[in-house]
Amino acid sequence: MTKRHLTGLSRAELSEYFAEFGEPRYRADQVFRGLHQRRLHSFDEMTDLPKGVREKLNESATPSILTVESKYVSSDGTRRYLMQTQEGNPVETVFIPTENRDTICFSSQSGCALKCDFCLTAKLGLLGNLSAGEIVEQVITVLNDVYGVGGQTPHGTNLVAMGAGEPFMNFDNLLKALEIMSDEDGLFIVPNRVTVSTVGIVPKIYAFAELERRPNLAISLSAPTDELRNKLMPVNTRWNIDELMTAAKAFERTLKRGERFTFEYVLLGGLNDSVEHARTLAAVLKRHDLRRAKINLIPHNPAEQLDYHPPDPAGVEAFKQTLEGLGVSAYVRTPRGRDIFAACGQLAAKHEPNLVNLTSTKSAEERNV
Ligand code: SAH
Repeated sequence: MTKRHLTGLSRAELSEYFAEFGEPRYRADQVFRGLHQRRLHSFDEMTDLPKGVREKLNESATPSILTVESKYVSSDGTRRYLMQTQEGNPVETVFIPTENRDTICFSSQSGCALKCDFCLTAKLGLLGNLSAGEIVEQVITVLNDVYGVGGQTPHGTNLVAMGAGEPFMNFDNLLKALEIMSDEDGLFIVPNRVTVSTVGIVPKIYAFAELERRPNLAISLSAPTDELRNKLMPVNTRWNIDELMTAAKAFERTLKRGERFTFEYVLLGGLNDSVEHARTLAAVLKRHDLRRAKINLIPHNPAEQLDYHPPDPAGVEAFKQTLEGLGVSAYVRTPRGRDIFAACGQLAAKHEPNLVNLTSTKSAEERNV
């Protein structure tokens, strides 16, 4: 019998689980807090539960189904965790320390079905959807490694669904995981601290727009014309730029006062990074009357298997200036963790002895950081 992974149950589901068990409902609250607020790895540590209950839980359920294979630490402090599902699929999660607030970048799928030509994850193909519990467990594992089990996060945590996979192709599990993580008796990471990044799955952008409590949205654009985007991101042949921008506009209309959303634009040296491309991009936004979009410019992170180059730094600046001159806010994202293959588009379960691997592989228990 496979054990039930309680970390992926909503509060209501956890209550039902305990009801089936013949235990009072408040046990569900104790266990929810134990798993998410205290971030405990085992039921045995939940000493507020009677011993008999802990034993019953150990027989039928588990708090943890991912194993940590390796941990790599970058010279800039970024950490990449390579974990594994019970089916043996890789799951990568990145911790990015920043001065004011730390960010955890989690994966929504193992591998990815989209075929963006400049992205290393695409080379893996889709290996599997992650369950809500596997998504939540990534975050718990990283928080415990960085701050100690149950340790307070000094200034809260931002979450970004920008690891491997396409979050909008695993929509229900993603939303369930975010709901679990936002609970104030749990991790308490509220939606406005979360950003979901999509390649542009148009029907899901409309569905997302209708959600009442929802995180921030980022849309990966990376080209201002269909001709170029078809080549770089084959998803564009399914939903073209016009359809994508129409969906983005529908989303924009649902934003509250002061809220904005993002387009990500990966700058590929000599391909999509000219001043002319920047002008065309600004014109696309103007044509669709997108006033509350900002552009995050991401210089390409290179890899051996990818036939692209980072842009010339002076060109990046000119691209940004051109957008700003045309009234579009643009920000250049500093690459983080490139040396350990943790940067955008580099997650492909790289397991190399010459990367600094700080995880002992002696025992399963030790691997469960
Ligand atoms: N599938 C989602 C989530 C991944 S987020 C999406 O595409 O939005 C990862 C971001 O990194 C995306 O904006 C993607 O376009 C970008 N990216 C992919 N490969 C990259 C690379 N090699 N260098 C820089 N950014 C890259």
